[in-house]
Amino acid sequence: MYAGAKVTEEKCNGCRLCIFTCPDPNVIKYAKTVKKVEVDEARCKGCGLCVAVCPKGAMVVSGLLDITEGGPAPQERYKGYMSKIPRAAE
Ligand code: SF4
Ligand code: SF4
Repeated sequence: MYAGAKVTEEKCNGCRLCIFTCPDPNVIKYAKTVKKVEVDEARCKGCGLCVAVCPKGAMVVSGLLDITEGGPAPQERYKGYMSKIPRAAE
């Protein structure tokens, strides 16, 4: 099942945390003109890391529930990993 990340533009604040977290370079790009990110869905592996780290809930991965077969949501799956990521003060 194909899974690809999508960003909800209205929710994205342009913090770029997803770019630094994505294991593949250049899948998520920062669009300077609108100060938000864009995802190259064709190159996305659907790992869900960007969903887990996004502080605004702006990232979704279509088909993620299908490939995890009802497994934990990305936020739960990467809990240990996420606790090691430095966070900027709100
Ligand atoms: S982590 Fe979320 S809010 Fe930050 S740039 Fe990525 S999609 Fe936007
Ligand atoms: S789902 Fe994984 S590969 Fe796809 S954009 Fe998010 S972090 Fe990158």
